[in-house]
Amino acid sequence: MAEYVIENGRIYTEYETIEKGYLIIKAGKIAGVGKGKYEGELTTYDAQGHHVLPGFIDIHIHGGYGEDAMDASEDGLQHLAKSLLSEGTTSFLATTMTQSDDNITKALKTIVSYQSKHDKYQAADIVGIHLEGPFISEHKVGAQNPEFVQRPSIEKVRQFQSIANGQIKVITFAPEVTGAEETLNAFHDKIKFSIGHTVATYDEVNKAVSQGAKHVTHLYNAGTAFEHREPGVFGAAWTNDALSTELIVDGIHSHPAAVKIAFKQKGNEQFFLITDAMRAKGMPDGEYDLGGQNVHVQGAEARLASGALAGSILKMNEGLNNLLKYTGEPLEKVWRVTSLNQAIALNIDHQKGSLSVGKDADIVILDDDQQVCATIKEGEIHQFVKRLF
Ligand SMILES: [Zn+2]
Ligand SMILES: [Zn+2]
Repeated sequence: MAEYVIENGRIYTEYETIEKGYLIIKAGKIAGVGKGKYEGELTTYDAQGHHVLPGFIDIHIHGGYGEDAMDASEDGLQHLAKSLLSEGTTSFLATTMTQSDDNITKALKTIVSYQSKHDKYQAADIVGIHLEGPFISEHKVGAQNPEFVQRPSIEKVRQFQSIANGQIKVITFAPEVTGAEETLNAFHDKIKFSIGHTVATYDEVNKAVSQGAKHVTHLYNAGTAFEHREPGVFGAAWTNDALSTELIVDGIHSHPAAVKIAFKQKGNEQFFLITDAMRAKGMPDGEYDLGGQNVHVQGAEARLASGALAGSILKMNEGLNNLLKYTGEPLEKVWRVTSLNQAIALNIDHQKGSLSVGKDADIVILDDDQQVCATIKEGEIHQFVKRLF
């Protein structure tokens, strides 16, 4: 495998931002990080002063580019995973929907089978599964199908996790429903329980956190709103330091000011940028399916006939661009919400999530508008909007 150097980049590491730095890539890993000009023998590529970040990790994505994880198609997953490189995503959690046990089972089996075969240099990695539902509240289904909502149980989670070969990393659940507490108690060490699609009160959320819940699914969407006498899920998310949160920063799912408030409250270590994208991402306007329901996509919005938002068509690089605008923060302070926080949460930070020696060479190079110039997947260079090399 090729050995080369990316030089003249603005390199964002865990410890500092190097204005003019270089990265040495060997055998698909980062083999060196340095300042100034590279003086060795290896082939060099000029990053032309662009931003060099760890590849994005999207922990909540149903699909895009015409594909959906619920289609249970290995070819579909491959097309999705390849296409995601164009938005800088190098790892993701394939995210399922509230559907029949049969359909969820098929999706889980297909994801696991795909994982064992995929070409890791040519496509983003599926680093696990996010089970969104069916253990949610029928009172906050959003675009999930209410027909298939069911109560959580130790038995059912064990069954899904066994089919998924242990790859379920996140479960979105409603902590207030029957069975939630015992299920959380049984699995919180192995699976990240994320509070979402829920009518839980502020107290119920904090109780779930004391029992091991760690995250809030798409903050501000499909949860109890903040009120000054009942702060709800979102008030608990802001104030409980043990909770991280994820947001869809597309300017539609939440007002820019609400995003700014969340970032101020949670800080850059407990805020995760997600897309929650569905299959219409990267596709023309029109009619699409999401978990067996028809979705109308126009412009940047995807909605059910009822008007409910039905996932997004957001790309990770666009979300980052929006977040920088909405918060007014510099990239230096924000970048980790796209990669390092997720890598730590998924326990893959020894391998991914930052530009450190020994980690996978999963890298994205962005221009000042967060357009993707190049994505490097375990050393293999893929070039997009603006060719650099
Ligand atoms: Zn959702
Ligand atoms: Zn979702």
